[in-house]
Amino acid sequence: MPHSHRNPKNLPSMTESDEIHLKKERHKARLLRDSQWWKRRCAKGVCYYCGRPVSPKDLTMDHVVPISRGGKSTKGNVVTSCKECNTNKKQLLPMEWQQYINQFNP
Ligand SMILES: [Zn+2]
Repeated sequence: MPHSHRNPKNLPSMTESDEIHLKKERHKARLLRDSQWWKRRCAKGVCYYCGRPVSPKDLTMDHVVPISRGGKSTKGNVVTSCKECNTNKKQLLPMEWQQYINQFNP
Protein backbone atom coordinates (compact mmCIF):
# COMPACT_ATOMS: atom_id res chain seq x y z
CA MET A 1 0.00 0.00 0.00
CA PRO A 2 1.49 3.37 -0.94
CA HIS A 3 2.25 5.78 1.84
CA SER A 4 0.53 9.13 1.63
CA HIS A 5 1.32 12.18 3.70
CA ARG A 6 -1.32 14.34 2.13
CA ASN A 7 -3.57 16.22 4.43
CA PRO A 8 -7.14 15.18 3.75
CA LYS A 9 -8.51 18.52 4.92
CA ASN A 10 -8.92 21.43 2.59
CA LEU A 11 -6.64 24.01 4.14
CA PRO A 12 -6.99 27.71 3.35
CA SER A 13 -4.13 29.33 1.46
CA MET A 14 -0.89 28.75 3.36
CA THR A 15 0.15 32.38 3.62
CA GLU A 16 -3.15 33.44 5.10
CA SER A 17 -3.37 30.66 7.67
CA ASP A 18 0.32 31.14 8.55
CA GLU A 19 -0.25 34.79 9.25
CA ILE A 20 -3.24 34.08 11.48
CA HIS A 21 -1.25 31.38 13.27
CA LEU A 22 1.71 33.71 13.87
CA LYS A 23 -0.48 36.50 15.23
CA LYS A 24 -2.44 34.16 17.47
CA GLU A 25 0.60 32.38 18.88
CA ARG A 26 2.58 35.59 19.41
CA HIS A 27 -0.34 36.98 21.37
CA LYS A 28 -0.56 33.80 23.45
CA ALA A 29 3.20 34.01 24.08
CA ARG A 30 2.77 37.51 25.51
CA LEU A 31 0.01 36.30 27.84
CA LEU A 32 2.12 33.32 28.88
CA ARG A 33 5.08 35.61 29.61
CA ASP A 34 2.90 37.49 32.11
CA SER A 35 1.67 34.35 33.82
CA GLN A 36 2.68 33.06 37.24
CA TRP A 37 3.67 29.79 35.58
CA TRP A 38 6.28 31.57 33.50
CA LYS A 39 7.52 33.63 36.44
CA ARG A 40 8.01 30.44 38.45
CA ARG A 41 9.98 28.89 35.60
CA CYS A 42 12.22 31.94 35.35
CA ALA A 43 12.67 31.95 39.13
CA LYS A 44 14.27 28.52 38.86
CA GLY A 45 17.05 30.23 36.93
CA VAL A 46 18.00 27.32 34.68
CA CYS A 47 18.32 27.21 30.91
CA TYR A 48 16.25 24.37 29.47
CA TYR A 49 18.82 23.62 26.74
CA CYS A 50 22.24 23.80 28.36
CA GLY A 51 21.06 23.29 31.96
CA ARG A 52 23.36 26.05 33.17
CA PRO A 53 22.27 28.34 35.97
CA VAL A 54 21.12 31.66 34.53
CA SER A 55 19.98 34.80 36.28
CA PRO A 56 16.16 35.05 35.87
CA LYS A 57 16.52 38.42 34.18
CA ASP A 58 18.76 36.86 31.53
CA LEU A 59 16.35 34.06 30.65
CA THR A 60 14.34 34.42 27.49
CA MET A 61 11.23 32.66 26.30
CA ASP A 62 11.91 30.18 23.53
CA HIS A 63 9.54 28.05 21.49
CA VAL A 64 10.92 24.52 21.12
CA VAL A 65 9.08 24.29 17.80
CA PRO A 66 9.22 27.84 16.43
CA ILE A 67 5.89 29.54 15.77
CA SER A 68 7.04 30.05 12.19
CA ARG A 69 7.25 26.28 11.83
CA GLY A 70 3.81 25.59 13.21
CA GLY A 71 4.74 25.60 16.89
CA LYS A 72 2.30 26.83 19.50
CA SER A 73 2.57 29.04 22.55
CA THR A 74 1.67 26.32 25.00
CA LYS A 75 3.34 25.32 28.24
CA GLY A 76 4.60 22.19 26.52
CA ASN A 77 6.32 24.13 23.73
CA VAL A 78 7.70 27.09 25.65
CA VAL A 79 10.95 26.89 27.62
CA THR A 80 13.37 29.15 29.44
CA SER A 81 16.54 29.71 27.44
CA CYS A 82 19.72 31.64 28.10
CA LYS A 83 20.66 34.23 25.52
CA GLU A 84 23.49 32.12 24.15
CA CYS A 85 21.26 29.11 23.47
CA ASN A 86 18.52 31.30 22.08
CA THR A 87 20.94 32.93 19.64
CA ASN A 88 22.48 29.62 18.65
CA LYS A 89 19.09 28.04 18.07
CA LYS A 90 18.17 30.85 15.69
CA GLN A 91 21.48 30.91 13.84
CA LEU A 92 22.57 27.28 13.66
CA LEU A 93 21.31 24.77 11.15
CA PRO A 94 19.08 22.09 12.74
CA MET A 95 21.96 19.60 12.54
CA GLU A 96 24.46 22.02 14.09
CA TRP A 97 21.97 22.87 16.82
CA GLN A 98 21.58 19.18 17.59
CA GLN A 99 25.35 18.88 17.96
CA TYR A 100 25.44 21.95 20.19
CA ILE A 101 22.70 20.45 22.41
CA ASN A 102 24.40 17.06 22.52
CA GLN A 103 27.46 18.46 24.24
CA PHE A 104 25.26 19.17 27.29
CA ASN A 105 23.66 15.71 27.24
CA PRO A 106 26.51 13.28 26.71
ZN1 LIG B 1 21.51 27.80 27.59
